[in-house]
Amino acid sequence: MQVFGPLEHHDYRVLDAECICHVCVPWRERHRALQEQQLKTQDHDISCACEECRIKVQRRTAYLAAMNKRDLYCEASWHAQLLTRNNNVFTVTVSDPVSGFALVFMNWLGGELNTRNDSWWEIRGLLLPLSHWFNRFSHAAAASGHSLGIPQYSGNIVAS
Ligand SMILES: [Zn+2]
Ligand SMILES: [Zn+2]
Repeated sequence: MQVFGPLEHHDYRVLDAECICHVCVPWRERHRALQEQQLKTQDHDISCACEECRIKVQRRTAYLAAMNKRDLYCEASWHAQLLTRNNNVFTVTVSDPVSGFALVFMNWLGGELNTRNDSWWEIRGLLLPLSHWFNRFSHAAAASGHSLGIPQYSGNIVAS
């Protein structure tokens, strides 16, 4: 088991089995907790409102939140590692990117994962495309000047 870095966090087959980062560990633990509770309540009716079933619903939300965060992080990592091979220039769907280092973006995104509650991540986290996060990052970077450590890039930015 090991921690896969932000720029190498996109191979689910490997991550599922080996990664113990701050994104994968909660995902794995919450999955186990949900399964445990599903077993406990497997012969309960779907409309059952007992305490165990209530816990099951809570654990499902917790798990789905962790899963959506992880999916976002993995998808972003895939694009981020591509950026590093292209001089850190955003080439994905960003209309007004602040170009910069992929790692800065990933670290910023890692922080964003901790800023909302599980219900938000269960529902909204699933619906927002990656471009939403790039745009948020752009705005955060623009608002903070150099404090995000993002260098200005003067070359062409290709939006696809
Ligand atoms: Zn991980
Ligand atoms: Zn029940």
